[in-house]
Amino acid sequence: MTVTDSSSSLACRVDPVVVERQVAARLLSPNFNRWAEQAAAAGHCTSPIRLTGSATTLDKTTGEVLSTYSTTGEPDGVLYVRCGNRRASVCPSCSHEYKGDTWHLLAAGAAGGMKGVPESVAAHPMVFATVTAPSFGPVHTTRTGQGGLGRCHPRRRVVCQHGRPVGCNAVHADGDSRLGQPLCRDCYRYTEHVVWQWHAPELWRRFTITLRRRLAARLGMTQTRLVQLARLSFAKVAEFQRRGVIHFHALIRLDGPASAVTGEHPFPVPLVDVPAEVLADVIRETAALVAYDAPPASDGEPGLRLRFGKQVDARPVTSTASRDDGREQSRDLHPETVAAYIAKYATKACEEFGLPQRLRSPEAAARLGVNAHICRLLATVLDVASTGGEHYAGLVRWAAMLGFRGHFSTKSRRYSTTLGRLRTARKRWQLQRLRGESCDEGTTGWQDDDPAEDSTLVLSDWALAGIGWLTAGDAALAATGSDGVRDWRDAKVRTRSHPSTSARTYGT
Ligand SMILES: [Zn+2]
Ligand SMILES: [Zn+2]
Ligand SMILES: [Zn+2]
Repeated sequence: MTVTDSSSSLACRVDPVVVERQVAARLLSPNFNRWAEQAAAAGHCTSPIRLTGSATTLDKTTGEVLSTYSTTGEPDGVLYVRCGNRRASVCPSCSHEYKGDTWHLLAAGAAGGMKGVPESVAAHPMVFATVTAPSFGPVHTTRTGQGGLGRCHPRRRVVCQHGRPVGCNAVHADGDSRLGQPLCRDCYRYTEHVVWQWHAPELWRRFTITLRRRLAARLGMTQTRLVQLARLSFAKVAEFQRRGVIHFHALIRLDGPASAVTGEHPFPVPLVDVPAEVLADVIRETAALVAYDAPPASDGEPGLRLRFGKQVDARPVTSTASRDDGREQSRDLHPETVAAYIAKYATKACEEFGLPQRLRSPEAAARLGVNAHICRLLATVLDVASTGGEHYAGLVRWAAMLGFRGHFSTKSRRYSTTLGRLRTARKRWQLQRLRGESCDEGTTGWQDDDPAEDSTLVLSDWALAGIGWLTAGDAALAATGSDGVRDWRDAKVRTRSHPSTSARTYGT
């Protein structure tokens, strides 16, 4: 039996005897080793793209054919290419790769010394900041007190207008299902929560603009003067908190002005002396100051003034800080610690609430076992979309994101390298593999500049043969291979970055 669009869920429905037979057939096939190589090159992707075609590499000047590649000689006559999906629930392998790329991107901008970003950037004033959403009502939470976990909301026996206790004396363990759920859902301000989430990207935009203004003011100069001396670069990641609202982690770095950028020095030093502590201070001040007046969520209601939450964390990032200390007692953070910490959240998205991408109704979510708070948020998203007029009609499209329409990781253009450049580097690496040139991921695989590329020309012709592994047996084999590979790669990243970043709890 041939399964053309396989996935792990489909593999489960296929008769195990059939799968076993397919696995055996693949293992015993004469070209199994080459198939396994291909599966590994596609990162053991859940649902790879199957291509047929050929590529010819020519010397640009002489026209000499340097190498040829064709899928006709491959097992099944196809080349397997990654699906590239960023969601872990769709393809663990590709989302893992995306996470790795994001780590490289952020680490390059924080620590330098890779991806064409010089080590000198680590000496620029840099701050790791976390800005949160305000409270929309108390939710069950973990607190770190002296000597371990503290109680959730220690309070005397007082009840809210709905007759529910306003305090909670429990000490919630990490996996407690109550975490993130309101103490009283009828008291919780759902509309405000959804309105804030919808406008969060605008609030962030205003934050970056205001930060430039406040920094100039702190330095006693006009904004025009500051532009001549320095420029702020941002890299940020949005992370969902358990209560279903995002917060932002950002690396904010001060570079030299645009006028000082040259091909030789793409990341010049700022021409004004700003200690990282001062930058951190201005960031805290700006986060407390910035506001946005949101249009009303329904007719006749007043608009809401949106702000960030009171918990603003801004810590200098210095290469002299201890690498393995993400804890409270040390104020400064090491660049690599921060990069690992921030990248950890890059692919989390909404998946932790178990919301499928095309989710439309809170009833469907409840049937999937999604908790009552998130279902209520989803219902509020749809409510506001229908009552809020033109300003909120777009919410429907972002229902599965609980109304968050921003990107999960963004950076300003000059922060570091780009995902596109990393992908080009990887494609080049795959091409080298196809040509049979020896290369090792640790050295040539991630290089951005390949001098040989300028003198050669690649003519290729590809056609789509299908999507997914050819059989459920192949899919099962690929899935088996992928776990080992991911473990290995994680271990490799860990030894490089020491990301001992104890998770911190923000918000109430
Ligand atoms: Zn994939
Ligand atoms: Zn509690
Ligand atoms: Zn209540």
